[in-house]
Amino acid sequence: CGIVGYVGHRSALDVVLAGLRRLEYRGYDSAGVALPLDGSLLVERKAGALANLEKQLDDVGRDRFTGTSGIGHTRWATHGPPTDRNAHPHRSASGDVAVVHNGIIENYLPLRAELEARGIWAESDTDTETAAHLVSLAYTGELGDGETKGDLPASVRAVARRLEGAFTLVVTHADEPDRIVAARRNSPLVLGIGDGETFLASDVAAFIEFTRDAVELGQDQVVTITRDGFDATDFHGDPVEVSPFRVTWDL
Ligand code: GLU
Repeated sequence: CGIVGYVGHRSALDVVLAGLRRLEYRGYDSAGVALPLDGSLLVERKAGALANLEKQLDDVGRDRFTGTSGIGHTRWATHGPPTDRNAHPHRSASGDVAVVHNGIIENYLPLRAELEARGIWAESDTDTETAAHLVSLAYTGELGDGETKGDLPASVRAVARRLEGAFTLVVTHADEPDRIVAARRNSPLVLGIGDGETFLASDVAAFIEFTRDAVELGQDQVVTITRDGFDATDFHGDPVEVSPFRVTWDL
């Protein structure tokens, strides 16, 4: 239901949680975060109010979350009940990829069957989890023609081309702490452009306390954000026009 992503110089955990708090008005039933750190992903997710997730973060120790990039999600369940196990982020079987998703992947059942044929079994009831496994397979070169191997934006594009329905899909990889990749179709995605930091969210409310320079992504686009800015393409990797704007209203 709500999505936040950040790459910059601040504590990603603080920025992502602040963003999720700003998106609470949209309604949600679970929340979670993922941060790449030292070659692995720290993932915490919890059913119920954001306060439940915050308590869990306190229990595991927030000081472990020192990374400066990360993603977060508030879920409004469509596929699978609102449990801890179905809360986003969802990880690939390898554990290297984490995704958050707004919307519905209509063709998740045939995709899940394809994954099972490869010996990958779903850990959750969600439509979303299939995307995490597929991005991981593309990144290791096991999906398609190998042109996606080691290339996170190309991997996300290859998977986006295979998904039907409505999605804002945001991806982080354990070995790629300096960038986050997102794809959108029939679901909103905006960027916030700061000084040495870049934000993405389903709604500008998530980041306007940090920057008011925003960019709206178009239909069927994939964007890679780094602390220095962004790169947007269509699902085939060709450059696209985006719409920059300045947020003039206040929260
Ligand atoms: N369809 C996904 C799920 O049920 C995402 C729902 C959302 O937009 O929050 O987990």
